Amino acid sequence: MAIDYQTTLDEIVIETLIYKEKGKVADYIPELAKVAPDQFGIFLQLLDGESYYTGDAFTRFSIQSISKVFALTMAFSFLGEKLWERVGVEPSGTAFNSLLQLEYEKGIPRNPFINAGALVVADILVSHLNDPKKELLHFIRHLSGGEKVSYNKAVALSEKRNGYRNMAVANLLKSFGNIQNPVEKVLDLYFNMCSIEMSCEELAKTFLLFVNHGKIPGSEDEILTKSQTKRLNALMQTCGFYDESGEYTFAVGLPGKSGVGGGIIALYPEKFTISVWSPRLNEKGNSVRGIKALELFTTKTGMSVF
Ligand code: GLN
Repeated sequence: MAIDYQTTLDEIVIETLIYKEKGKVADYIPELAKVAPDQFGIFLQLLDGESYYTGDAFTRFSIQSISKVFALTMAFSFLGEKLWERVGVEPSGTAFNSLLQLEYEKGIPRNPFINAGALVVADILVSHLNDPKKELLHFIRHLSGGEKVSYNKAVALSEKRNGYRNMAVANLLKSFGNIQNPVEKVLDLYFNMCSIEMSCEELAKTFLLFVNHGKIPGSEDEILTKSQTKRLNALMQTCGFYDESGEYTFAVGLPGKSGVGGGIIALYPEKFTISVWSPRLNEKGNSVRGIKALELFTTKTGMSVF
């Protein structure tokens, strides 16, 4: 029997109401603390073109760490397998902004989705692009099929003003020789990419290349090879939720990536992408209601890669 996706999404809204007030909106910068906490949206995009949504699926929010996937995609397409000489592919088991591991692992970040790894990726983009901020945005717009995705200048500035820990990570990386450009340039790109705003709808559409073997659906435009796409999906599965990646995989069973803006994108290769947004976070920095919604989605539909 065909799955009734709309009914499934509508049920999820009701069944996750008990989590509506659980968790805390990110408040490490004033800009993010201002977000109305009870917003909630889901957008499901099937690869065959059909889509379903509910709630605040068209409201843009700060995608934060989800942007690390876009930056990584670009860097991987530039460097290929050489990329993994500068950043690992192992879950970290430590907080996304931790400095500890980086010190004893001599400046090679565990994976590209903790902040240290994303800073190395940002450094690679700074090395390869004339105008990294402009070109990264252009790349994301190209993937999204629209022109509306943008940086939020106030958020970027706030990240910069309060980014002491990221500055420490960048300087530690530089001391080990794993940042090649001036740290200010690398941090500027990093803070800006964290400030990008997208809606659930835009995220679900933009991530379609990961369910389509690296190609934008409907075009022959190969962003990543089939094998590279497999690798990035594997990284999203194992490292996409910081030190909650195991629990997330256990509960949901789909590759994905979260951000402290409360957004999550998850996907099933050859089938669909699904994005959820709910700003209240658990102590690991992942959306409480968002993870519950995805857990219910894969339980109700049986659509998990496991
Ligand atoms: N701007 C945040 C930071 O660098 C992004 C982290 C996140 O979404 N986990 O701390």
